[in-house]
Amino acid sequence: MLDPHDIELPRRILVGKGVAGSVGDVACSIGLSGRVYVVLSSMGYKLAGDVVLSSLSANGFNVHDRRVEEAQEELSSVMEEAAKARPDFIVSVGGGSTIDLGKYTAFKLGIPFMSVPTAASHDGIASPMVSLKGLGKPCSVRAKPPIAIIADVNIIMSAPHRLLASGCGDIIAKLTAVKDWKLAHKIKNEYYGEYAASLAVMSAKLVMKHAKLIGAHREEGVRIVIEALVSCGVSMCIAGSSRPCSGAEHQFSHVLDMIAPRPALHGEQCGVGAIMMAYLHGMKWRRIRKALKLIGAPTTAKELGIEDEYIVRALVEAHKVRPRYTILGDTGLTWDAARHLAKVTGVIS
Ligand SMILES: [Zn+2]
Repeated sequence: MLDPHDIELPRRILVGKGVAGSVGDVACSIGLSGRVYVVLSSMGYKLAGDVVLSSLSANGFNVHDRRVEEAQEELSSVMEEAAKARPDFIVSVGGGSTIDLGKYTAFKLGIPFMSVPTAASHDGIASPMVSLKGLGKPCSVRAKPPIAIIADVNIIMSAPHRLLASGCGDIIAKLTAVKDWKLAHKIKNEYYGEYAASLAVMSAKLVMKHAKLIGAHREEGVRIVIEALVSCGVSMCIAGSSRPCSGAEHQFSHVLDMIAPRPALHGEQCGVGAIMMAYLHGMKWRRIRKALKLIGAPTTAKELGIEDEYIVRALVEAHKVRPRYTILGDTGLTWDAARHLAKVTGVIS
């Protein structure tokens, strides 16, 4: 039991066509005023820059915008510049790392953060977690959830299907993440929150149920993915950690990020990891693989563009990434067991 159980949630979540133009109104509606520092990726600038910036100016905000090319590399310079600009809140417009860059900077400055995702590629859209190379950790660290999320369906639909499919891999991975959490509860007496766990599992099941629709990149499918990602973020807010959303399949992905010469997308790797961890848990792993295939997400090393050897090595080293108990146990898999696991699930040939 967590006592006190302190839950901080986003206040407004706006999902719809053309809602990027409402960023300024939403900021006003939640009582924000004064100076705003807007972090935009180049894609964010192209897809929504004008709309978001003019919506903020039109609502009387004093706007300072910063375009980032490599969000992962620009953490210290953005933090320095933002601190000088003395904003009252921060808005990020872009993909996963641009969102994380703004979220972390706002957290450090102790000011609110608004998230305007341009792709549905991972669950950082609404979560209190941040994953940035500059923080020196392979896994995510806790910050604060966005005060508002503005998810423009038109913009997110126009992003490449690969990004949406990656977001689905990240969502489906909650099935094994929650199994790991339950296991840690039973074996290590770790806090387990059934409400947060159920919310994450429900999101994964909904995405699997609508895999075909999502695979066809239909609007209804895109909306399901956005809402599922937001729900996963909320489940982390409720749990007070990334536990409902990140287990051994995430650790596998974190190791790939460190060792593979060309890692794939976060959610793509987590989806493949979930197939293998589901096998270890004795779950219906073929269902996970089938859903990922229907969605158009990778299910093999080849599709990830990663050589077999790195897959096996990531499985062997995954348990070392962070002190978090999972199906991999305290000592992890042997090389032979890891190779067998990847082979039997068809990830390597
Ligand atoms: Zn994730």
